[in-house]
Amino acid sequence: MKIACQEGLAPGATLREKVANMEKFGFEGLETWGRGLAGRVDEIKKALEGTTIKLGSICAGFGGCPLDADKSQRDMAINDCKEILKAAGDLGAVGMIFVPIFGSPRIPDLSPLADPIKLEKDLMVLLGQEMGETAAAAGTMLLLEPLNRYETHLIKRLEDGVEIAERIGNPHVKIMADFFHMSIEERDIPASIRAAGSWIQHVHLADSTRLLPGYGHTDFKSGFAALKDVGFDKYMALECGIPGDPMVELPKCVQYLKGCM
Ligand code: MG
Repeated sequence: MKIACQEGLAPGATLREKVANMEKFGFEGLETWGRGLAGRVDEIKKALEGTTIKLGSICAGFGGCPLDADKSQRDMAINDCKEILKAAGDLGAVGMIFVPIFGSPRIPDLSPLADPIKLEKDLMVLLGQEMGETAAAAGTMLLLEPLNRYETHLIKRLEDGVEIAERIGNPHVKIMADFFHMSIEERDIPASIRAAGSWIQHVHLADSTRLLPGYGHTDFKSGFAALKDVGFDKYMALECGIPGDPMVELPKCVQYLKGCM
């Protein structure tokens, strides 16, 4: 398991400076935002050159909404995702994080033919198969991220993500696990991780407060033990608020996480 940091959290005026600080603090991976990624490939490669930091993951960054009732919104999302997936593959990232929908359903209720949830899931499977082919060709993965009830209605628990990924049936479509969302939605985080097993290919780290791990009541030790049990060996990226000076708090957090591992 490798500790990573989102680009926006690392201190530094340029990506090169951020990467240098991350290396100094003990991180191993970088997570960047997906928007405009195709135009940043050279910049990112240069910033990582000669360092021990690898690009681990890409966080979303697509326009539109894959589950909108408006086809132009769906097309925008899928086309953006394919472009980001290609750049993610070029950069050697494990995968691109993907949240299919925020908030409430945008598709009408067509019951008794189909309610919005059935329509969304069926649509997500077809679109996931299409994007999965792009991910496979690029040598990366599409990673479904379960959120929580306050941010989405659809994929909220690891098992919801696994259900969709299983139906998509492409080894380049998996899920990720975010400790903040899990602290709201999972009854037993280690048990949920063990049940999801190798479907988990990426992790987001934030405490129950959505601050740095160590500033809340999430038990990272038992969660990491479960991740080890299922053979997880990829990146765990910080996605959280920093209560204080990042130059002090980030290296402290890396030490805390290593202690929990
Ligand atoms: Mg997250």
